[in-house]
Amino acid sequence: MTFIDKDKPVLVTGATGYIASWIIKYLIDDGYTVHGTVRSISNSEKIAHLLRLNDAGKGTLRLFEADLLKERSFQEAMEGCELVIHTASPFMVQGIKNAREQLIKPALEGTRNVLSTANNTATVKRVVLTSSVVAIYGDAIDINRTKTGGFTEKDWNITSSESHQPYNRSKTVAEKEAWRIANEQDRWDLLVINPGFVMGPSLSKRVDSTSIDFMLSMVNGKYASGLPDFYFSLVDVRDVAHAHINAGLLERASGRHILVADVKRAVEIADSLRTKFHNKYKIPEKVLPNFILYLTGPLMGFSWKYLRRNLGIPFQFDNTYSKTDLGIEYTSLAQTFADHVEQLDRDGLI
Ligand code: NAP
Repeated sequence: MTFIDKDKPVLVTGATGYIASWIIKYLIDDGYTVHGTVRSISNSEKIAHLLRLNDAGKGTLRLFEADLLKERSFQEAMEGCELVIHTASPFMVQGIKNAREQLIKPALEGTRNVLSTANNTATVKRVVLTSSVVAIYGDAIDINRTKTGGFTEKDWNITSSESHQPYNRSKTVAEKEAWRIANEQDRWDLLVINPGFVMGPSLSKRVDSTSIDFMLSMVNGKYASGLPDFYFSLVDVRDVAHAHINAGLLERASGRHILVADVKRAVEIADSLRTKFHNKYKIPEKVLPNFILYLTGPLMGFSWKYLRRNLGIPFQFDNTYSKTDLGIEYTSLAQTFADHVEQLDRDGLI
């Protein structure tokens, strides 16, 4: 049972995004009217797959233009909505020239903008925010600070800054601001989804998403000389979408939710793909020795501080709350990786 009226529209910000597109698909398949915000409705390449979802599903999608940095630009799209799912935020970890302008400002001011619009929109009952596990921890080595040897929803990232792990910083300050704004009123409640690195098939052919770029690099020969020995917390995009919807619809649900199926070494992802696809793609076989990374890392965009705090350091998450509070049953990661590569191949992107 849900406390959200099915006849009222649901707002999804950042509708063109990798995760948002799956949220919209499930809502439309289920008969909801979705108000999706995009930066530009005239960008037909970015919205083509959304129009197809609208044609195929039982519900309806209406698109609105809104920008995180333009005050009140979410007002029209939020009119009449009881549920707001705020996913829009820049997701980039490499090639950052100005962290404040490219990451922190849009994440923080965008969250303020969307939530102040929720304060001004009398129909809103619940806001679901897409945060990240990087609002929970900054670097792998932070695992040494935990009491139980695994990160939980009680942990916060206290080690990222504008100069070190700025994306992680952007997600942390944005989520903290969301909780501050939510706690100052009692008409709507805030639920937060904290996904690990999201993998799995994309509904669009865009390759500028960090998740898509990573999976492509696993099959296109980028790491032919070997994979850096990093660990990744991983989760299927379809599970992340279901988590957002359950968080939005289940009245008794509350709080933050770690969404991580498992933590894997990069080479384990490659091994899983090789088991499925054998020699069909240029899947990496070796792990690069750590000293090579220390020599070449800065040229590849990895600072020494980043390497010291992440290379070869395993970590763990406790995902129990996502199962008990949101009813999530995790897709096996072998399935996630295989489905993702099959989609990239089918769409001619490899
Ligand atoms: P994505 O495909 O790159 O989508 C990002 C979305 O944010 C796009 O719709 C983008 O719009 C929008 N956006 C960026 N800057 C904006 C601005 N100034 N104004 C309005 N919209 C803006 O990334 P994603 O992976 O789906 O990520 C969605 C959310 O999940 C983000 O909050 C991200 O931090 C979070 N997250 C992602 C992962 C992951 O592994 N993918 C993991 C944890 C959390 P355009 O299409 O116009 O660029």
